[in-house]
Amino acid sequence: MKKLFAVIFLLCISNLHSHSQPAAKPNVIVFMVDDMGWQDTSVPFWNKATDFNKRYHTPNMERLAKEGMKFTNAYAMPVCTPTRVSLLTGVNAARTRVTHWTSPEQNKNTDHPDATFNPVDWNINGLSPEAGVGHTFHATPLPAVLRQNGYYTIHSGKAHFGSSGTPGSDPKNLGFDINIAGSSIGHPASYLGQKNYDSPVKGKPNRNAVPGLEAYHGTDVFLSDAITIEALKALEKPVTEKQPFFLYLAHYAVHTPINADKRYLEKYLKMGLDSIEAKYATLVEGMDKSLGDVLNYLDNKDIAKNTVVIFMSDNGGLSRTPPRGGKAWTHNLPLKAGKGSVYEGGIREPMLVRWPGVTRPGSVAEQYVIIEDFFPTILEVAGAKNQKMLQQTDGESFLKLLKNPALKNQQRELLWHHPNRWTPEDGPNINYASAFRKGNWKLIYNYEKAALELYDLQNDIGEENNLAGSNPEKVKELAALFTRKLKKWDAQWPTFKATGKQVPWPDQITVK
Ligand code: CA
Repeated sequence: MKKLFAVIFLLCISNLHSHSQPAAKPNVIVFMVDDMGWQDTSVPFWNKATDFNKRYHTPNMERLAKEGMKFTNAYAMPVCTPTRVSLLTGVNAARTRVTHWTSPEQNKNTDHPDATFNPVDWNINGLSPEAGVGHTFHATPLPAVLRQNGYYTIHSGKAHFGSSGTPGSDPKNLGFDINIAGSSIGHPASYLGQKNYDSPVKGKPNRNAVPGLEAYHGTDVFLSDAITIEALKALEKPVTEKQPFFLYLAHYAVHTPINADKRYLEKYLKMGLDSIEAKYATLVEGMDKSLGDVLNYLDNKDIAKNTVVIFMSDNGGLSRTPPRGGKAWTHNLPLKAGKGSVYEGGIREPMLVRWPGVTRPGSVAEQYVIIEDFFPTILEVAGAKNQKMLQQTDGESFLKLLKNPALKNQQRELLWHHPNRWTPEDGPNINYASAFRKGNWKLIYNYEKAALELYDLQNDIGEENNLAGSNPEKVKELAALFTRKLKKWDAQWPTFKATGKQVPWPDQITVK
């Protein structure tokens, strides 16, 4: 009898061994919001709650912050496509040469004509997974690498990686197994199911009509909900089959058109907001509901513990009026300016990360991070090995910060390069400007004014006190580093219309 038990015991052990698996790879969700400002949330990302934090209602972001880690110095590029291409490639916009937003139409330069500068020859068609496509950055996209490593990859929402007719316009060419509603468009024609997410022009579909959501046409389902419902449906397969997944849930919200999500409107009107700003707040709250739906799904499926959730926005809050209500360039105060600008209002983002067992609940990381860091971080989280990639990356993994948010690296250099004209009108460093951060110092270069501005972000988050005149030594030091990096990365640099000569480099500017 004893012998029989021993045999059964041994059989059980060997059975256990033959079925034992290495620890499951974590699932990864990147929850990307479009054009959301740093304070368009009830989660304060500064050292105090601001009036904007008090205006917006984002209970699910509050939950994520409470359960995970908040990044107070997280950055993206000033406009959409550069951020999205850096996220998918790990390469800075100065090197991808996708420095501006790509048109849904192929070979169309979205740079507005400028009186002073000739436009640079930037990659106007965006990212390409294939070689030989004109005006594109050819690279191996993040989902393709994750797929090599056993991940099931889902795209839902706004893509905007490349112009239509190029391979990069379709997420399925970029390594996504599933694409829901993503294409070359940078914003929806409408958020309303009743309008088929379209806004026909002269009876013809708008070029920004959202594709692939026909099942919701004529319904009351708001766009932010439709892409969430479909994303969660698509998760059923990997969750059931216990395959690790990468979900890129990229909201069209809160980009224009500022359509009201009527479920939330009354509350904001009662607060006394003008009708545009009240509608804008509903776009924010509807996006936050989607986050709640995702978090609840993870709980219901009992997979929250093994899922990393990363919340991010792709550029600063829009602050042009119209389409925003109120006074221009006030929507991100105390941060200066907004979308399009290399001032903090255009590039500083609300970022949250939750990875149960790794991120300490309610923790805060003050170290600055930037969008190209997502690529190496996610690959490290996924334990990706022997990845076959075309590009050399510029980002730095922030996994070490998730484990220890107290880490600081004041030597790190960040760079924003925007040699483009975003709008016909002028605005605070929204056209032809670049910036550089090292430690708490930030140097801004405005090509038109041929001027450098120096700010101490630790003491002057609003970039109100330009210290260039009083600290020429620091300007000189940073301008040299800034120029070195721009040249090393072979960054494009415009020429003057009048002379054909190149605009001076930052280290050639004399501070007056
Ligand atoms: Ca955007």
